[in-house]
Amino acid sequence: MTERKVLIAGNWKMHTTLAEARELAGAVVRSSTNLVGREVMIAPPFTALSAVAEVLGDSRVLLAAQNVCWAEKGAFTGEISPLMLKDLGCGMAIIGHSERRHVFGEDDALLNKRVLGAMEQNLSPVFCIGETLGQREGGQTMSVLEGQVRNGLAGVVVTDPGALVIAYEPVWAIGTGKTASVEQAQEAHAFVRTVLADLFEKNIATQIRILYGGSVNPDNVDVLMGQEDIDGALVGGAALKAESFDRIIHYR
Ligand code: PEP
Repeated sequence: MTERKVLIAGNWKMHTTLAEARELAGAVVRSSTNLVGREVMIAPPFTALSAVAEVLGDSRVLLAAQNVCWAEKGAFTGEISPLMLKDLGCGMAIIGHSERRHVFGEDDALLNKRVLGAMEQNLSPVFCIGETLGQREGGQTMSVLEGQVRNGLAGVVVTDPGALVIAYEPVWAIGTGKTASVEQAQEAHAFVRTVLADLFEKNIATQIRILYGGSVNPDNVDVLMGQEDIDGALVGGAALKAESFDRIIHYR
């Protein structure tokens, strides 16, 4: 029996005007109204956080940022602090998304600072890890994931396992329409949990949620969510369409 509450998370990336964001957020609120035993999170772009927070009101939908700085304030042009995000109503932040790693060159050491800074201010990280196609084909998947987890979470002390979320997102499956097979996904998730058990305690590792991300859609969500170590999904493209996201959060 798992103690992990399913989390379905939508990453809107660099999409949505204010009007589009309000409309989509309203649809997610309506979709989530009668959802039992599952959490739903959305991560709009920074510019829409305030407007979306208003739409979410006191609904059960959780608000997240797509990135966060480690510092409270200061000379960090272009960055947003955990305090600023909390001010806007965010309780979570995606950290280390593959686009941050591969387009913007963010490495494990930098991401570790983001994770520690967020946790210090009680902002829950959704910490993303994942191998490239070359790494998978070169048989390096598990060692890459292990390095990302150990380095990204160095120095982390887990007091509330529900407040730290890992997202396994194979880089080759993000936005490509290719999904890891359920066996590949379950194998990676189970492996990551053994690394977490080694880093923290086993009973903490069994309570940390590990989401799968990479072209999750209404057609593949049911089978992915049927896997023992898959505790939710981080959804990109399909989270931008109210109908698709509705079907995903209501996976069977
Ligand atoms: C993502 O943005 O984290 C993601 C998994 O995107 P997509 O679902 O479009 O592959």
